[in-house]
Amino acid sequence: MTDRFAFRLAATDGAARTGVIRMTRGEIRTPAFMPVGTAATVKAMRPAEVRATGADIILGNTYHLMLRPGAERMVRLGGLHAFMGWDRPILTDSGGYQVMSLSALTKQSEEGVAFKSHLDGSRHLLTPERSMEIQRLLGSDIVMAFDECPPAGVDAKRAGASMERSMRWAARSRAGFDAGEEHAARAALFGIQQGSLDETLRACSAAALTDIGFDGYAIGGLAVGEGQEAMFGVLDFAPAQLPADKPRYLMGVGKPDDLVGAVARGVDMFDCVLPTRSGRNGQAFTWDGPVNIRNAKHAEDQGPLDASCDCPVCTTWSRAYLHHLVRAGEMLGAMLMTQHNLHFYQALMQAMRDAIAAGRFGEFQATFAARYRR
Ligand SMILES: [Zn+2]
Repeated sequence: MTDRFAFRLAATDGAARTGVIRMTRGEIRTPAFMPVGTAATVKAMRPAEVRATGADIILGNTYHLMLRPGAERMVRLGGLHAFMGWDRPILTDSGGYQVMSLSALTKQSEEGVAFKSHLDGSRHLLTPERSMEIQRLLGSDIVMAFDECPPAGVDAKRAGASMERSMRWAARSRAGFDAGEEHAARAALFGIQQGSLDETLRACSAAALTDIGFDGYAIGGLAVGEGQEAMFGVLDFAPAQLPADKPRYLMGVGKPDDLVGAVARGVDMFDCVLPTRSGRNGQAFTWDGPVNIRNAKHAEDQGPLDASCDCPVCTTWSRAYLHHLVRAGEMLGAMLMTQHNLHFYQALMQAMRDAIAAGRFGEFQATFAARYRR
């Protein structure tokens, strides 16, 4: 084992797994939740505060960073880690998903995706090769293959054609990543399974990716509006189609109960904007379910946001204060709500890791659900 990338499973309980990924920039305890740092910042949080929540790794968005400040400029600025002051692992997405969801006038071909920037209308071409180059210039620790993510509800024919193109792009991503020899010697590359909700397409995708060979495998194309029941339906078979000795990453998920259900089905890694974005909008996640702090019933509530949380927010300020800050549009409101939410998400991951290690994940799942949905 080199220190470039090693995944060791410590315990399993049913399909649920806990372990550690070892990389040059630090260890990642799994199941892991990665806060989203879209534009070289986890919004409203200093890096030291993000780390203090228990985060081992964060995510950066290739699409945003290639447009601003730009990948070549990032090299001159010393790379993403030095630029933003985060010295632990960073996973970067490939840009493919966000090009389709954020930019105007996209034109897809076998070569890649041509698009106009949502910032200034400038024209760009994102290909598997260019995505690998940008992620290398950013200094990413875990690089994601460039893929095509079809929207929910596409027919089987279109889902199949899209999956096959993604597998050709996965092979080009592998070659492009390996060509950056110095970076490839210290970073990891993950492939992305596609195939919509179809078990056979998912199996074909898993076989194609395994044949190419990756350090980890993402389950892509979910959390695009299909709903929790359909997502869990796919997770009943998709993780088992992927190599058992590599991490499995469910992209863009999710709500706390999504995370628990996905871990129960064998997923090891997650990312989602929900704790940060919802926090800025006044929604807190707690062990007793979501709380809308804007609600008038909190105006004179002297109690903490979550009595079971030991984060700096819950041990210092009241619901009444947070209600006041958020209603007044004070920036500290967004900061404190984000800080609590990220603490809660990391506490949830730690509780799941502990439960799996103790062989009582089923019990944890039942207790969590009874209290969270009450
Ligand atoms: Zn808290």
